[in-house]
Amino acid sequence: MREETLAVHAGYIKDENSTMAVPIYQTTAYEFRDTTHAANLFELKEIGNIYTRLMNPTTDIFEKRFASLEGGVASVATASGMSAIFYAIANVAEAGDNIIVAKQVYGGTTTLTAHTIKRFGIESRYFDINNPLELEDLIDDRTKLILFESISNPSIDIADFDKITKIANRYNILTCVDNTVATPILCKPLDLNCDIVVHSASKYTTGQGLAIGGIIVERYNLEDKIRDNPRYYHFNEPDESYHGLIYTDMPLPPFTLRVRLALLRDLGATPSPFNSWLYIQGLETLPLRMRQHSDSTLKIAKFLEKHPKVKSVNYAGLKSNRNYSLAKKYFPKGQSGLLSFEVNSLEEAKKIADSTKIFKLVVNIGDSKSIITHPASTTHQQLSSQELIDAGVPEGLIRLSVGLENSDDLIDDLKEALDKI
Ligand code: PLP
Repeated sequence: MREETLAVHAGYIKDENSTMAVPIYQTTAYEFRDTTHAANLFELKEIGNIYTRLMNPTTDIFEKRFASLEGGVASVATASGMSAIFYAIANVAEAGDNIIVAKQVYGGTTTLTAHTIKRFGIESRYFDINNPLELEDLIDDRTKLILFESISNPSIDIADFDKITKIANRYNILTCVDNTVATPILCKPLDLNCDIVVHSASKYTTGQGLAIGGIIVERYNLEDKIRDNPRYYHFNEPDESYHGLIYTDMPLPPFTLRVRLALLRDLGATPSPFNSWLYIQGLETLPLRMRQHSDSTLKIAKFLEKHPKVKSVNYAGLKSNRNYSLAKKYFPKGQSGLLSFEVNSLEEAKKIADSTKIFKLVVNIGDSKSIITHPASTTHQQLSSQELIDAGVPEGLIRLSVGLENSDDLIDDLKEALDKI
């Protein structure tokens, strides 16, 4: 089936009530038939519901639908994009290990990797997404993950998947792509030889800024890369916390299985069933929305590019953009709704962000309502000056998340704000 159809139907098999809309299974727990049934579920001899921290029928439909859109074999939904990223890291790395992260990532990912996981003994090494060859010098025997964004937020760089995966696969290291900005409609990293995809479902998935959430998706046959791979010994050795279960011996996809059985069990960042239902509603219109977001953003990027007060515009759909050929190669259907542009100073940037009327000053992206952000004073405020430069976020940079309003109204709004500086 094609993705517009998957977005509306995948993962939902109606029960005897035949509800057209997916039901919300608002429950904490599930009744077992008897103690044997309960024991079988805990021992994974039978697959079924145990407790909503681990699984839930509404969340399960969201997971199946999202995995099918990404072309993955399985997925696990989480309570936020940040918990999805943290679980993807914690699933493979432990004290003494390192991961390699693109310099150009969401500010929260930078603080998570540079500071929080450092306190757990996991080192983060950084590479320039525009120069994947840097990876070669950073990899060693304890490298467990290469983490990057398909379209980076807020620097709007485009990952060169072929170059990155070629190096990662030579060393048998897992790649994890944050595909939040692109969404599976515009880019499917698992089809481009990547191993794991993570998302903040808080963005384009809900599409209306309705709920915080995240998801981790695993590619087909990932067990072939993990099995007997010394980097991932803990997938190949008995897990003492699950009475000796060996993940690669299980008939289920090992990466997401371990996230669910070990990390959701112990750390519990599970989405509420109601939020999973909201993500399902969002997915139904995702293909339509991503086309509209991309079309309007390109039009606005072209307007800004010609404006005399704008120093530079960063949108990979512009022919002048250094990532244009990568965008055509990996994002032929559109480059999503995020663009950034730079004006001359911090003051000018603040003035513009304070002046727009339709673009609201908000730290979010992927909403149907247009958003303007000044990263240096908000999302990236906790970064040092050097980290700001490394993340491609100069002080005069403004990020727009272009919504679904009429694009001419949005251009008029920006025109008036630029007239004020
Ligand atoms: N990844 C990207 C690219 C993001 O933009 C964000 C949030 O802005 C996150 C991850 C974190 O997601 P959440 O806010 O759902 O935790």
